[in-house]
Amino acid sequence: MGSVQIVTTILAAAITAVAVWLAVRAVMKIVAVVRLGQPAPERFADRGTRTKTMLAETAGHTRMLRWSVVGAAHWFVMVGFIVLSLLVLEAYFEVVSPTGGLPLIGGLAVYGLVTELIAVLGTVGILVLIAIRVRNRPSRPGGRSRFTGSTMWQGYFVEAVVLAVLIMGFVIRGFKVATDHFEYPLWATPVSHAVGALLPDWSAGVSIAALIKIAISMTWLIVIALNVTMGVAWHRFLAFFNIFFKRDPGRAGSGLGALRPMMSQGKPLDFEEADPEKDQFGVAQVEQFTWKGLLDFSTCTECGRCQSQCPAWNTGKPLSPKLLVLSLRDHAYAKAPYLLAGGGKDLTGEEKATAAQLAHVDVLALAEAEKPLIGGAEDGGIIDPDVLWSCTTCGACVEQCPVDIEHVDHIVDMRRYQVLIESSFPSEAGVMLRNLENKGNPWGAPQNTREDWTKGLGFEVPRVGEVDDFEYLFWVGCAGAFEDRAKKTTRAVATLLNEAGVSFAILGEGETCTGDPARRIGNEFVFQMLAQQNVETLNEAFDGREKSKRKIVATCPHCFNTLGNEYGQLGGEFEVVHHTQLLAHLVSAGKLTPVQPVDGGVTYHDPCYLGRHNRVFAAPREVLGDSVQGEIVEMPRNSERSFCCGAGGARMWMEEKIGKRINVDRVEEAMSTGARTIAVGCPFCSTMLNDGVNGKGAGEQVEVVDVASVLLRSLKPADAAGEKETATSGS
Ligand code: SF4
Ligand code: SF4
Repeated sequence: MGSVQIVTTILAAAITAVAVWLAVRAVMKIVAVVRLGQPAPERFADRGTRTKTMLAETAGHTRMLRWSVVGAAHWFVMVGFIVLSLLVLEAYFEVVSPTGGLPLIGGLAVYGLVTELIAVLGTVGILVLIAIRVRNRPSRPGGRSRFTGSTMWQGYFVEAVVLAVLIMGFVIRGFKVATDHFEYPLWATPVSHAVGALLPDWSAGVSIAALIKIAISMTWLIVIALNVTMGVAWHRFLAFFNIFFKRDPGRAGSGLGALRPMMSQGKPLDFEEADPEKDQFGVAQVEQFTWKGLLDFSTCTECGRCQSQCPAWNTGKPLSPKLLVLSLRDHAYAKAPYLLAGGGKDLTGEEKATAAQLAHVDVLALAEAEKPLIGGAEDGGIIDPDVLWSCTTCGACVEQCPVDIEHVDHIVDMRRYQVLIESSFPSEAGVMLRNLENKGNPWGAPQNTREDWTKGLGFEVPRVGEVDDFEYLFWVGCAGAFEDRAKKTTRAVATLLNEAGVSFAILGEGETCTGDPARRIGNEFVFQMLAQQNVETLNEAFDGREKSKRKIVATCPHCFNTLGNEYGQLGGEFEVVHHTQLLAHLVSAGKLTPVQPVDGGVTYHDPCYLGRHNRVFAAPREVLGDSVQGEIVEMPRNSERSFCCGAGGARMWMEEKIGKRINVDRVEEAMSTGARTIAVGCPFCSTMLNDGVNGKGAGEQVEVVDVASVLLRSLKPADAAGEKETATSGS
């Protein structure tokens, strides 16, 4: 070993020792913070599926690849990072000796080829990512960026380190080529040979370049160790765990569909026994999230994909799912020293720690602990109430997040505490909740008018009890029974089912609200009350039938989602289809035959709770495709990336006082397609988009209409003579 190698070896060992020591401390800190969360025992079930999903998502970048160029570039950078780790390891042999290399695989042509290839593609990938970050920087003139609110220096730093380490890899190899110590053939390592042709014959160059490479890598480790909230770097390690522990590993759209039940001590809360002094009602302190919630916050990469799709953020509301996650993360880590010292409030609000326990806690952590989780800026709140109540629970953030963060569950958990314990929510929603409790529907309509929509139909609509051998129970829903526009859809669906010879029955006055708006606003008590009543009624209606024969068809995606995905949590197992799915089946089976094309073109608005939350994208398009007998003109934001109408998450019952109205934004997008018909598959979307069209004074040019009505209008005249007019026009 020469004198140069002695110095490079000592320096490499010293910086590595410091970096590893700091990194171990940082990992212990992250683990300690995550462990502050509440138990979530369900996250350890089904480890086989979890492992498969985690491997598929990381190795295949299945979520990232939806953003094709970014996804591909990130894939090469990720693979490059893994291979780079091998090359960094190799550098430790090179600081000791200019001819050093990895034992066993070092020197194999195939190793030389693979590392060369990955290094080249990784370099291209990181340059693409840097270009994208620069092009989308928040400070660029005009427009909001998905990086607005992200810590930009951290992103640039991480990317610069990756680029520098890749370049140093070629420099080390180049010096080996120049000094004739390189064992790989030209065909396997052309770039290294080309670099070598430019470098002098200087054997110390190998060890010095290797030291620089190690120093850059260890500086990166030191910086991220000193910044445990640097998600852009830590996600490289945490994302594997966050994906592994996601809520529904076997389901496309994990974290969507059903809400996570309200839990206390890792068990679902039953309101018949719940006690607010012993049980946790939602989340009022950051440590009341589960450990998976805290892992979510730690894993956020600050990429802003969620933000770029959020309807609230895109219409000028203060909510950004990314900024919400970052606020919770920063608060959790700032409060952690106090919590780790034994601090925290019990469920009655009393301090758990003794004065002695808190004596040495940093004053900043003590001050952080005093901040309310939900509160305005004047109170030092972490999440502003306007942020919390702006969410439509549309799920676009969950859908887009490459590391499977479950924003909607966290938002609703915080709403639960506000509603159930603080009674603090937008006052206008109080009427809806009172109506649900007293009348069983959000409008407060008399229960004995639930069947009024059947009047004037040219056939009898059977009730459960009057007939027992029905195939489908037609769940009408509150909107479908009481709201004038939705009643037209109900009549159209009933007419189509009757026309196609489907045997169905309704519950009539036995039906009550599924509880979706109560649950999404955070009132789990009212949700459970309504849901238990409905589960009992439905179990009675289907008495003696196996699950595959307990079929329900619903026109409202919110009912569809609650009946199919959430009632199982309360003992109600049913086979639920949306009316567009059943109609698509009836058309393809030849039981309904559309013949008259719809004039003027059709565009389709995907309801969030049908599309994103339940992956029903094709069926409504199939029905429309047959009905219009031509192309559906898609909006720029469609299918998984569809834009909310603004009504979900009980927003239908709250005033939209901040920013541009979401429904107006969506209507403008729909009208930009030039289609004269905006087809919908949800009564709430119908109301919101109709209001948007009327607000723009465009009622004469554009019509908002349910897929069922489009189909009914286009049926063979002989199929639907008579009923057609009454079903689509009357109420
Ligand atoms: S659910 Fe929708 S509205 Fe709520 S934060 Fe996510 S993207 Fe925004
Ligand atoms: S998409 Fe996920 S990782 Fe990216 S900023 Fe949003 S929450 Fe963070």
